[in-house]
Amino acid sequence: MTYRLYYNDAYLTDFDAMLVEIADGGRRVYLDRTAFYPTSGGQPFDTGTLGGSRVVDVVDEETRIAHLLDAPLDVKAGRVQAHVDWPRRFDHMQQHTGQHLLSAVLEDLFGWKTVSVHFGPAASTLDVDTDAVPHARLVAAEDRANLLIAENRGVTAQMENAASATGLRKPTDRTGEIRVVTVADVDRSACGGTHVRTTGEIGVLLVRRTEKVKQGTRIEFVCGLRAASRARADYDALSSIAQAVSGSVDDAAAVVKGRLAAGQEAEAARRKAARELDGYHARERVLAAAADARGVRRVIERRAEGALDDLRGLAHAVCALPRTAFIGAVEGAGAVLVGTSEDSGLAAGSVLRPALEAAGGRGGGSPRMAQGVVPAGNITSVIDAVQAEWDRAT
Ligand SMILES: [Zn+2]
Repeated sequence: MTYRLYYNDAYLTDFDAMLVEIADGGRRVYLDRTAFYPTSGGQPFDTGTLGGSRVVDVVDEETRIAHLLDAPLDVKAGRVQAHVDWPRRFDHMQQHTGQHLLSAVLEDLFGWKTVSVHFGPAASTLDVDTDAVPHARLVAAEDRANLLIAENRGVTAQMENAASATGLRKPTDRTGEIRVVTVADVDRSACGGTHVRTTGEIGVLLVRRTEKVKQGTRIEFVCGLRAASRARADYDALSSIAQAVSGSVDDAAAVVKGRLAAGQEAEAARRKAARELDGYHARERVLAAAADARGVRRVIERRAEGALDDLRGLAHAVCALPRTAFIGAVEGAGAVLVGTSEDSGLAAGSVLRPALEAAGGRGGGSPRMAQGVVPAGNITSVIDAVQAEWDRAT
């Protein structure tokens, strides 16, 4: 049985303890007592040093706590000195106590029960049993939690009998002695984690995004020093956006929205102009093309470089005119696009596919529009094959 020093004093960082067992070649160590918190209840393990080794994981084995080290312990028997990394532990205490507060506020204000919690390296989350969390309620909960932080309420832990412990926020299924954590006049919860002494030490609570999850809604939040560094990162990001649009931080969102709307309008106008230009080019090219025996005018457009998509507008504009066919090619990309008008009597897909395959390529499409790729250098043979097939059909 490992005696858990952190139950009585979450602020204890330096302690000594008797070695009880050393396993795994000195990398898995058991002590008679420990201030190292093991991963449990959603709260991550502490790090620190044991003898001359780094503690890289702490595992709760129910009756015992295992300390996992990066190197074999240099002490073989007797007492060993230990140190818990305080910044990491204090950060966990701030997030964890903040979670008690936020869970209490969400239930008191809106009746939402917390069904699970998670403390991550960047942000913490809690899941509440509701389908949606309106933004205004999120802000109201944050305000209330921060008021309780400013009131600097006491946070205490004591052992109580499960049978007689009253007023617990969540009924416990444990029996016998349980550890009850109380935030004065706000919350009583059965919990084995580490907490700050007063709500003031949480510093500040910042609610962030929400996300729909299977069991309800997940609320992300950060507390304390983490909230300050998060707010700093948010402000820096917002500042660079404001700078990019030559606006102030306060009006950056409105400026960006305005610019996006203007950009969409410009894009719509550009597309319309491009369509009109394609129509103009198409008429010019069709008029310049000689008619075949059926009176179908074939437009051939070969380009050295570019994207096949750049040819699509012209292809559609040509094939929208009566008795037309189109062959477009981008030589560098080995790409071919073939189109035919409804009244041409010529097929696109069924003619292009075998022509591509014969040239070591692949592709196909509908009777009206088809495309494919061939090894660069074989473009001419594909165009010739399509033309020859169309000549036969004529
Ligand atoms: Zn707790």
